[in-house]
Amino acid sequence: MTSTLTRILSPAQVLAFRRKLMSWYRANARELPWRGTRDPYQTWVSEVMLQQTRVAAVLEHYERFLRLFPTVVALALAPEAQVLAAWSGLGYYRRARSLHQAAQFLVRERSAQIPTSAVELRTLPGIGEYTCAAIASIAFGERAAVVDGNVDRVLLRVTGRAEDASAAARTAIRAQAEALVPNKRMGGSSNAAGDHNQAMMELGATLCLPRAPLCLNCPVFDLCATRGEHLAVPRRKQRSRPAAFLLATRKQGTRTHVLLTRRPAEASLMPGMLELPPLPIDAVASPNAPEPILRLRHSITHTNFYVEVFAQSSDQSPTSAITSFDNEEGEYEPGSDEQSPDPVQHTPYQPGLEPAGLLKAIPVASGALGWYAHAQLSGLPLTGLARKILLRANLYAIASPQTPAQPIATTRRKAGRKPQSNSVQPEK
Ligand code: SF4
Repeated sequence: MTSTLTRILSPAQVLAFRRKLMSWYRANARELPWRGTRDPYQTWVSEVMLQQTRVAAVLEHYERFLRLFPTVVALALAPEAQVLAAWSGLGYYRRARSLHQAAQFLVRERSAQIPTSAVELRTLPGIGEYTCAAIASIAFGERAAVVDGNVDRVLLRVTGRAEDASAAARTAIRAQAEALVPNKRMGGSSNAAGDHNQAMMELGATLCLPRAPLCLNCPVFDLCATRGEHLAVPRRKQRSRPAAFLLATRKQGTRTHVLLTRRPAEASLMPGMLELPPLPIDAVASPNAPEPILRLRHSITHTNFYVEVFAQSSDQSPTSAITSFDNEEGEYEPGSDEQSPDPVQHTPYQPGLEPAGLLKAIPVASGALGWYAHAQLSGLPLTGLARKILLRANLYAIASPQTPAQPIATTRRKAGRKPQSNSVQPEK
């Protein structure tokens, strides 16, 4: 396939493309809980969650998040820790913080009213070119083109630029995407622009797949310049890195507590979130080190972390329950979490470590450590990896949604109320 195929679609081809795409979408669109709504807040939440995240992961979080925070006001008034806890497992926690900050800005400055145009939406924290176009077209019917990774791939292939990563190709793709978005009332749809954008993303997500596009089922096959005859875009090589964590538990009466550490406020990734205490690799690599109770793989963007979890318990009950997870391999979850489980600092290795001795090897300041009640865990801002380990250890259960914050009158005075403290206090 060469650049001689590079082209833009003619006006007649644009019309044919729209018609074929929408006909296919109406018959084949997946049923997803955020489809069919034109509520701008719900659309906003779903589009932010879907960025670089698998649909399956979003399905686990979307409805629960909306039950906890059903409105912009409820989200704005919630403590940040509660928002991060509801986001735990979706990764890329900066998105949750930006969503929260944007909600607080709207309550403070705009009486909780979400802007109705892409240009205004773009001014909110965490809303980029893709998200503002998605909200403006899906919720408000604006003729704005959504170009996410899926749409980008479809149009690069349709226009014969499948292997062209140049800036000129990106510019051409955006122009082609904009030309394809129909006017509001085209085709009898009440929101042709929003439906078209969702159909483009669906085509990329379900048929025009990165490595093996299903061209024979594609509605725009006869308009596509490449039809699958292109070189696969080389995958970036995954790196492998080891990581180790301590799962320390204690019993107080009938209550089980888990030792967690808070990531530094200045950390570039997930500042302030809670995780299991990291262990220096050299402290657990010695022949004298205890056996891990759990092994799993945790993939973050281009790195596979091979994680070992070591137990320390004041009694047998919590840790003995998880020995059956030995050697279990976690699922590969591309882009599932932005957490870096790197130990932050290493302390000198002490030979002959027993499980209890691992506590001393934790390379974080003791002030950053705290015991948290097992029943409290699902309400904490845990990192995705910590949540995954605690789930495997039967120490984490997804709590039923808390009583959602009650929407308040959206006057400026009330909207300006200071949100509650977001600090989560460990037990003594
Ligand atoms: S024909 Fe194949 S390569 Fe072209 S848009 Fe359809 S699925 Fe993608």
